Amino acid sequence: APIISINSLSKTYSNGFTALDNVSFDIEEGEILALLGPNGAGKTTLISIICGITNPSGGQVTVSGHDVVTEFRKTRGEIGLVPQELTTDMFETVFNTVSFSRGLHGKKPDPAYIDQVLKDLSLFEKRDNTLRELSGGMKRRVLIAKALSHQPRILFLDEPTAGVDVALRKDMWQLVERLRKTGVTIILTTHYIEEAQGIADRVGIINRGKLLLVEEKNALMRKL
Ligand code: ADP
Ligand code: ADP
Repeated sequence: APIISINSLSKTYSNGFTALDNVSFDIEEGEILALLGPNGAGKTTLISIICGITNPSGGQVTVSGHDVVTEFRKTRGEIGLVPQELTTDMFETVFNTVSFSRGLHGKKPDPAYIDQVLKDLSLFEKRDNTLRELSGGMKRRVLIAKALSHQPRILFLDEPTAGVDVALRKDMWQLVERLRKTGVTIILTTHYIEEAQGIADRVGIINRGKLLLVEEKNALMRKL
């Protein structure tokens, strides 16, 4: 069974604007899916609904078979969301920041797991540094570590490379590739086609609230 199932999903905001229009597709466990589309296409709205932050106007999303609206308590623990901006106490250490995030998700402390996440993200040597001592790239890694702190099976990255330089962008791509080996299902949004083609197994193209296609990367390249 797919890990995420999206069925006839629509979202019309209270101002009357329709940000998602009858979107349906499945996401398989362990895959990397890129949602490609211009600004305003509806990518963040889609992610917000799957994460249970925004209510759909119509249709349904299930995560591991559970409805994201009515069974939010069950689905929230399955998901980690990497936002674009770091909103954390800059005077706290890397380890404490990530460990605290785990606590916020209602999980018991597990320093060994947190250390493993830091190692997976090449953050371990910065474990006891405060966030303000880190480079921009390292701070982005902390965002990912926080999202992984409660051992989610699904990781969302909202425009992981927006506004970063070329070197850091390549760095992020390698990081996503490495995370794949931990078995986590990864969904990222982007408006760079080369990013979607570079790291994803499948690419979904969204424009004006509609899902235009979802294709295996190789099939997509033949079409473009
Ligand atoms: P809902 O339809 O889920 O009730 P609302 O339309 O009430 O959502 O808006 C939720 C929040 O998003 C409000 O705080 C609103 O100010 C903000 N918002 C409104 N328009 C936009 C927009 N174009 N882009 C992003 N946020 C917006
Ligand atoms: P993307 O992530 O692809 O840039 P979004 O999902 O953020 O797209 O936004 C899709 C459209 O919905 C945009 O036109 C945006 O202005 C609008 N929108 C987002 N949030 C709200 C809101 N709360 N109220 C009204 N319109 C919104």
